[in-house]
Amino acid sequence: MRLLIMGPPGAGKGTQAVALAERIGGAHISTGDIFRANVAQETELGRTAKRFMDAGEYVPDEVTNAMVADRLAQDDAREAFLLDGYPRTLDQVAKLDEILNELGTQLDGVVALTVVEDELISRLLERAKVSGRTDDTEDVIRHRQDVYRAETEPLLAVYRDRGLLVEVDGMGTPDAVGQRIADALPSA
Ligand code: ADP
Repeated sequence: MRLLIMGPPGAGKGTQAVALAERIGGAHISTGDIFRANVAQETELGRTAKRFMDAGEYVPDEVTNAMVADRLAQDDAREAFLLDGYPRTLDQVAKLDEILNELGTQLDGVVALTVVEDELISRLLERAKVSGRTDDTEDVIRHRQDVYRAETEPLLAVYRDRGLLVEVDGMGTPDAVGQRIADALPSA
């Protein structure tokens, strides 16, 4: 199975993604995790990404697209994968279509977690106390919500039109949300 998981910052995407990738037996490909690993290792890619991430901006598409194309071509992603945090722009949607086309495959579904904005902000402020993430300050948290609404929310309509979108209520405990995802994707 080949899936995407989407949701605004704070929706619990990362937590659910780990469990869902395990269920489908596929590679969990989180662009945020890959960027953070590169930042930690102080690679060239990490240095570029850090400037954007710390400001709550998206890393430029050409950087992100090349990284995902490489990752999807690896063996462990051949049969099944869960993309977490990609695509985030319409340009990335077009690029992903191209990558999958070249690999001779396509998406089976797009899980979108929905959470009201007040809850998102309060979750992220809580996380900021423990995460040590440099993009978890209040101004940056608010800015990331704005960027999500402007750049990423329009992708929901694209995948809805393609009949791929599965919207799941992201309120409640991680287990409750995980159960909803499982119910919504019986074949996963
Ligand atoms: P969150 O879902 O909490 O925003 P992520 O871990 O998914 O966190 O991403 C962290 C940061 O990494 C983003 O704010 C952005 O700067 C960068 N990033 C991740 N994925 C992408 C992407 N597909 N395109 C551009 N930037 C990205």
